[in-house]
Amino acid sequence: MKRIEAVIFDLAGTTVDHGSLAPVKAVTEVFARQGVRISDEDARRDMGLFKKDHIRKILAAPHIDLAWRMQYRRAPDEKDVEKLFMEFAPLQMEVLEQYSDVIPGAPDVAARLRVHGVKVGATTGYTRPMLEAVLRHAALQGYAPDIALCPDDVGGGRPHPWMCLRIAIEFQLSSMAAAVKVGDTVSDIQEGLNAGMWTVGVSRTGNEVGLTAEDIAALTEGERARRVQRACDSLMNAGAHYVVESAALLDPALERIEERLLAGDRP
Ligand SMILES: [Mg+2]
Repeated sequence: MKRIEAVIFDLAGTTVDHGSLAPVKAVTEVFARQGVRISDEDARRDMGLFKKDHIRKILAAPHIDLAWRMQYRRAPDEKDVEKLFMEFAPLQMEVLEQYSDVIPGAPDVAARLRVHGVKVGATTGYTRPMLEAVLRHAALQGYAPDIALCPDDVGGGRPHPWMCLRIAIEFQLSSMAAAVKVGDTVSDIQEGLNAGMWTVGVSRTGNEVGLTAEDIAALTEGERARRVQRACDSLMNAGAHYVVESAALLDPALERIEERLLAGDRP
């Protein structure tokens, strides 16, 4: 690689936690404890945002707002967001250990990038303690980004580009166009585009399909293809330059971006 200087990966659903299950478990549980049932689909809709922003978005969905009013005889407010977030944090920490295994092939991609002199960064919607827990677990399995940032570090999360911009400074990139943001959610793609970077969506291992590798393997071929295609469409509609099924299959997309940069193209 001559032109690509850095690749910035998301964590859950992209490099760890196949299917992005950990945040779904914790978010649905924190609402259930308040007597408000939300579906996995509700929890996945705005995945990738900073977790407090994510909880606020869920509460704002009309059917959940209605369920809250039925339960409490009043509209949810910012105090409820704060309370839910406070209760969410320890729940998320509890399930992280269980769902932080690296996605097969992700450590190898990071290792190949380093051989080519490409730096590896990470951004997330988790808090700093959650990020540290995931990083500890991932490092034991051979994946350790050079820098990993969370919304706490920069004053806000996706779709703002701030985590990516800070990483660009830390890596001393020659231009934002020398970096590629890789992630499994619409907000990952927005983050990368807002930072002026190339973006690659991840379909099969991510939040949009939302299944473990074992559960995907149990699907019929047609159903598997349909779900992966739906994830691909969603990420392309968000503006992704490319979509791959897994971060492990990133290389051809990077080669294409490298060719475009050499031809003078920009994201
Ligand atoms: Mg993710």
